[in-house]
Amino acid sequence: MRLPDPTPGRGCGACTACCVEIAIDDPELQKPDHVACMHMREGQGCAIHDRLPKTCRNWYCGWRFLTLSDAMRPDLSHVMLSPEMGPSGDKGGLRIVLLDENRAALEQGELLDLIAKCIGGGIPIFLSWGHAAMAKRVLVNPVAAEAVAAGDKPRFVAVLRDLLAGLVQQVAMDVIAAQNGSTATLSGPRQS
Ligand code: SF4
Ligand code: SF4
Repeated sequence: MRLPDPTPGRGCGACTACCVEIAIDDPELQKPDHVACMHMREGQGCAIHDRLPKTCRNWYCGWRFLTLSDAMRPDLSHVMLSPEMGPSGDKGGLRIVLLDENRAALEQGELLDLIAKCIGGGIPIFLSWGHAAMAKRVLVNPVAAEAVAAGDKPRFVAVLRDLLAGLVQQVAMDVIAAQNGSTATLSGPRQS
């Protein structure tokens, strides 16, 4: 997936969110999601900046290329926007990753405006929760399209809140099932 060019002059600064949250499967570097990369220096960035693995050279989060305020930098807003393909595989979209399990971060005005704008423009938006094998995500567009089209912000926020609550519950049920050693899946099918 080719990403838009990053905004000139906008750098990662002290943020290292993607170096923790993103899974990397690269011949030069492999790491699971939600685990800090061994080359990451907290608050400083990457210790191997002059010889980055290919994945790291080509990847950056949505904050780097979208029109968002400085306050929306992932380490400050607790929201990372991960560029990902939509469900049909032919359209680029964004996955919302709430850092530090900060559920309230979803309801920041600037993020809500962005999500509504993307949905109005047909850009796939996923909401996600959980990590590794427990990770869940849901496509927001079909569920929130009506509220967005009607300009009904309270309903739109309620839809997002419900979707997130559903994901949190699915992950919790899977964790309990795994702890019980059960092979039965207690959650519904993965939504996307
Ligand atoms: S999450 Fe975005 S701002 Fe933060 S380090 Fe990664 S690319 Fe830079
Ligand atoms: S190699 Fe550097 S840029 Fe890539 S994940 Fe590790 S710390 Fe981040």
